[in-house]
Amino acid sequence: MGGSEQKFVNEAFDTNWIAPLGPHVDGFEADIQTYLGNDCEVAVLSSGTAAIHLALQLLGVSKDDEVLCQSFTFSASANPILYQGAIPVFVDSEPDTWNMSPDLLERAIKDRIAKHKKPKAIVAVHLYGMPYNAQAINTIANKYEIPVVEDSAEALGSTYFGQACGTLADLGILSFNGNKIITTSGGGALITHDKALKNKAVFLSTQARDNAPHYEHSSVGFNYRMSNVLAGIGRGQMEVLDARVAARRRHFNFYKDQLAVYPEISFLEEPTGSFSNRWLTCITTDSYRKREAIRLTLLEDDIESRPLWKPMHMQPLFKDCLHFTDGTSEALFEKGLCLPSGSNLSQDDLDRIIYQLSKTPSL
Ligand SMILES: *Cc1c(COP(=O)(O)O)cnc(C)c1O
Repeated sequence: MGGSEQKFVNEAFDTNWIAPLGPHVDGFEADIQTYLGNDCEVAVLSSGTAAIHLALQLLGVSKDDEVLCQSFTFSASANPILYQGAIPVFVDSEPDTWNMSPDLLERAIKDRIAKHKKPKAIVAVHLYGMPYNAQAINTIANKYEIPVVEDSAEALGSTYFGQACGTLADLGILSFNGNKIITTSGGGALITHDKALKNKAVFLSTQARDNAPHYEHSSVGFNYRMSNVLAGIGRGQMEVLDARVAARRRHFNFYKDQLAVYPEISFLEEPTGSFSNRWLTCITTDSYRKREAIRLTLLEDDIESRPLWKPMHMQPLFKDCLHFTDGTSEALFEKGLCLPSGSNLSQDDLDRIIYQLSKTPSL
């Protein structure tokens, strides 16, 4: 926590606003809107997963519709497709951003259209905070008139040609889960450019109650709104967001400098126009064996590191799903590792990690 969160939470208790509405909900939304800019409208919700689910609901994704989804991501990007009874079709990443490959996206769209199964939506992800190639993805999406859901769960604080990640598509989402760059313990947000769509998201997230003195319902509702207590935490967290981004980027640069002596370790550079919050510092090595050697050596001194996300098309849950892949995300999963990246790492922690890593046999 940054400092002011307790004050905001106390205020919620003092004023008895312990509900999924209240001044902090409005205040947190206003804070995020100001931070993101780009004329966006924000609805804060119970999680990033809920935000993706609502986004698909708002786009009319329903049973047996196909939805194109980045394969190299966390499962929460894809699960809401299943909640809707829809069918995920996975698209591989490009080496430059580790995110959705525009070429494979277009190949997938053409294939599905040829088979009379035009996809209903595209879920693209700014993985590890690195912006996806939004210019190319949006061009393709516009050409085929398919809306994009921008999964910016890991990319709050990242920008693409000066515009905030989360505001680059028809609908964007953020997460404030405990592992993200700022947190409300659990929480998320849906971002739109359309006030009416935001109002509809709020309506659906609060049980879709029609305007009447009694309880009247004409559509399926969800209990997805963020509580006023957690929004208070979020307001405090917004005050330290830029410092968190600076810390994560500092850690990335430290690792990159210190590990430059190992030619088999590489880092993902920011393409022109992209600014990453460097949510996690990730390295790639030249082999699965080298990656495991580093991971196990770190573990000997109780330092946790983790392989990169296992692609969705390799997951047992999605094993029968169609996918358009070229080996990029499989190789990243095989050879890549996330290093300790928390905003509160001290210089001693970082030095200890580098020292332990240097003891890796065969490095
Ligand atoms: C964390 C995360 C989500 C889900 O957010 P929750 O708030 O945990 O539900 C979705 N997509 C990606 C890429 C994430 O990392």
